[in-house]
Amino acid sequence: MRPSLLNPLFAQVTTLQGVGPKQDKLLRYLLDRSETPRLVDLLLHLPASVIDRRARPKIRDAAVGTMVTLEVTVDRHRPPPRNSRAPYLVYASDDTGDVVLTFFRAQPGYVEKLLPVGEKRYVSGTLAMYDGIPQIVHPDRVIDEAGFAKLSGIDPVYPLTEGLAIGSLRRAIAQALTKLPELPEWISPEVLRRCNFPPIQEALTRVHVPIELTDILPDGPFWSRLAFDELLAGQLALALIRATLRRPAGVRNAGDGHLRNRIIDALPYALTKSQQQAVAAIIEDLRQPVRMLRLVQGDVGSGKTVVALMAAAAVAEAGKQAALMAPTEILARQHIKTIAPLAERAGMRVAILTGREKGKERRELLARLEAGEIDLLVGTHALIQDDVTYKALALAVVDEQHRFGVRERLALTSKGEAVDVLVLSATPIPRTLVLTYFGDMDVSELREKPAGRQPIDTRAVPMSRIEDVMDGVGRALGAGKLVYWICPLVDESEAEGTEHLTNATERFESLQQRFGDRVGLVHGQMKGTEKDRVMAQFAAHEIGLLVATTVVEVGVDVPAATIMVIENAERFGLAQLHQLRGRIGRGSEASTCLLLYKEPLGEMSKARLKVIRETTDGFRIAEEDLKLRGEGDVLGIRQSGLPGYRIARSEVHGQLITQARDEALRILKDNPKLKGERGEALRVLLYLYERDEAVPLIGAG
Ligand code: ADP
Ligand code: MG
Repeated sequence: MRPSLLNPLFAQVTTLQGVGPKQDKLLRYLLDRSETPRLVDLLLHLPASVIDRRARPKIRDAAVGTMVTLEVTVDRHRPPPRNSRAPYLVYASDDTGDVVLTFFRAQPGYVEKLLPVGEKRYVSGTLAMYDGIPQIVHPDRVIDEAGFAKLSGIDPVYPLTEGLAIGSLRRAIAQALTKLPELPEWISPEVLRRCNFPPIQEALTRVHVPIELTDILPDGPFWSRLAFDELLAGQLALALIRATLRRPAGVRNAGDGHLRNRIIDALPYALTKSQQQAVAAIIEDLRQPVRMLRLVQGDVGSGKTVVALMAAAAVAEAGKQAALMAPTEILARQHIKTIAPLAERAGMRVAILTGREKGKERRELLARLEAGEIDLLVGTHALIQDDVTYKALALAVVDEQHRFGVRERLALTSKGEAVDVLVLSATPIPRTLVLTYFGDMDVSELREKPAGRQPIDTRAVPMSRIEDVMDGVGRALGAGKLVYWICPLVDESEAEGTEHLTNATERFESLQQRFGDRVGLVHGQMKGTEKDRVMAQFAAHEIGLLVATTVVEVGVDVPAATIMVIENAERFGLAQLHQLRGRIGRGSEASTCLLLYKEPLGEMSKARLKVIRETTDGFRIAEEDLKLRGEGDVLGIRQSGLPGYRIARSEVHGQLITQARDEALRILKDNPKLKGERGEALRVLLYLYERDEAVPLIGAG
């Protein structure tokens, strides 16, 4: 239960004066909420900048193009002639010169009342020059002496949405501030002192009612305090969840190694050194009394699947089950194709579950799963459907984690008890992001590529030379090579399965005219079985040229393919280009990647193509990507800042993330049940930032 002292902050904004259904709708949109926002949402909506109205230059000294506040006397009015669209002009002056205040389509009577002749007014707005005379068009604010005396002179400016006036947002936030209760201090005295944080009330008040221009800066003390609170709430929740997920005494999730040994014997290659290290670290985790949370980070082609298989084998040896969840059906099938022959030779029982398994087949599979007759279940989102029940799920492997939300990960792990989690990612996730979203996750890196891989020759070619490219493809096909031809989706934002197919189908047809039945096509709208059939034909050399949308982006493994043409390469992001290109260069033959681009190239596209030409190192590419696009995108979310966080920003508060982590661990060590005064305060913090999902886990304080 939320501590009652927070109740006023969780009241709906519509309880505020002047906030009706119309504002409700606008605020939902602005604050990104599906329901009516609460006061807390308003208070955590921080200003983007400030207007300084303290500077009051004389008219003669005021700088054109800047926001100014002028102290003027109103001299005369010049209303527009009847039926004219001319503006209503007001002439005003101080002892250094004249200024014209201009109003277009003014309501009758409005201007007269606002600026009575002969009186003094404070007029704020952007100063322009028109016909050599200083002018302000539609002043932002006109107030009299009494009104002016009440203002601090610095006004916060908030991110807005169309239709929402800054004045009404400011009034709503000002009212919300009056409802702010007395909150206990949850930060330890040491951290308060070291970081020089003000109390929470002061922090919230000063960002919304700034006294100094610097009060609203994200790296200033007020915003930083709020960011720390938000990060601490996140870290504490993650740490609490993790700490409560201990295995019952004596339970271990790794067996005696007999299955693993048989898999090693069945492998046609030796594991690389870093694969061996990753497997060893995982086995060690599986033996610990605390649940595993480990990320295996390795570039495309570094061999993550077999590492996952070894982990699953260890769990199976202990008589338990593992699940491997992949983001797409193609990828899930790819995994099972790699895994099944090895697993079967070792005597491990594996199966696949995607949207395609239906009816009787699915029922039988679920029955076997529940009876414990399946050791490793590979699949898509289908793995987390309600009716999927495991006999003893002990390990959840999630491939390409950043495509799944935390919700999916939790849904899978909740199907067993204290389930160990292994995350596979080809995209190196920056340390701060790992911390923010997973807490203290252990990381194994697969730095080496399997032996014998050849480098990829990557070139950028303008679209005007497509004929040469086609000729080259023809020669390659003649020499028996396997070629990918990738076309982008028309609208990348559309979900898989609803993509526009014009590009790929049109290209398929034109290539088919030229090369006949050696050409195949796969795209996201095809049925799964159809996709598999075409992929299998390609792998078996029955077709030599595969036209594809980005469905081949992740995981597809046809080691004999050595050429890739990427059409409209300028439209792809860096990470995506790297993933796509990772489909070639998997065998012992040299590979070539051609990036076909449309001219003229924008600066960003130019920079991206340059990076991708220069290197195949996924870590470097991810770093460059980060520089070019900002961190939000690494997680596949196009926005700046940290997804799911309202105040903390990775570029500004990176330091605070580690400090919040340390503080959370200290709290957990000293006061794991969140008892006493400080414990109460920390519970308030968890509820304030809505990270309270962990509270029931700690039991009665
Ligand atoms: P990714 O890390 O991109 O998921 P995969 O697990 O799909 O990579 O492995 C890519 C290819 O490399 C597969 O064909 C796999 O069989 C092969 N492979 C994995 N480990 C090794 C190794 N140690 N030596 C040689 N080939 C390997
Ligand atoms: Mg993979």
